[in-house]
Amino acid sequence: MRKQLRHSIAFLLIFVAGIVFAACQPNPTVNSQVTPAQTATPTTSPSPEVSIPVAYPDRELSASPAQLPPLPYETGALNRAIDAQTMQIHHDRHHQTYVDNLNAALKDRPDLQKLSVEAMLRDLNAVPEDIRSTVQNNAGGHLNHTIFWQIMGPNGGQPTGAIAQAINQTFGSLEAFQQQFNETGGDRFGSGWVWLVRNPQGQLQIVSTPNQDNPITDGNYPIMGNDVWEHAYYLRYQNRRADYLKNWWNVVNWNEVNNRFQASAQQPGG
Ligand code: MN
Repeated sequence: MRKQLRHSIAFLLIFVAGIVFAACQPNPTVNSQVTPAQTATPTTSPSPEVSIPVAYPDRELSASPAQLPPLPYETGALNRAIDAQTMQIHHDRHHQTYVDNLNAALKDRPDLQKLSVEAMLRDLNAVPEDIRSTVQNNAGGHLNHTIFWQIMGPNGGQPTGAIAQAINQTFGSLEAFQQQFNETGGDRFGSGWVWLVRNPQGQLQIVSTPNQDNPITDGNYPIMGNDVWEHAYYLRYQNRRADYLKNWWNVVNWNEVNNRFQASAQQPGG
């Protein structure tokens, strides 16, 4: 009888210990309603800094699967700088190809699909080496063009809001800023982008990236950027990239640029 009691107590203790042990384990269902971007960023970012969305002012770009966002205007809406056929080919074919290639690269990688496009590009070393350059090029292409369509519109003109003041303070004048931006875009050898970024020190800066690299890989927040790949301008401008860069200001959506500028101020150092 006493032996049976000892067995019962021992069993009870093991049972209680098991419950306590189970309760202390991470519960995989707890975060199931949180978006992948929110769960992914802290685990892949080497620093505890808060990363703010780059694709849109309020959200990151999903990779499960990546999807082509619709143009926010008709293909002919930017005709003051870019013809309708260029817009159609650029969006429907070039951007679509980056989306398709990214999805193909991540096809058997559900772990990576859970990450946002931004999270992958912020920490490319965490992407397996066999698909790293494919992800860099195509996640970059998807993110760059997603930003590009938004920061253009039919009614370009003068900058508005806080961005106008910041440009004057940093570059002296709008004209000086545009000249430096155009020169940097013109100097990019081969294909790439010219950007206005907020750097990790919180300052506005003009940078150029090669290929489809996005400034977030270098810790910079892209506020606005122009695509200087030939596919962006060749039909109307042929080899005259400088003319394209100059005309492009006619279709800058300063309202959206200002939104992005204000979002970038949430960045550490911003
Ligand atoms: Mn392009």
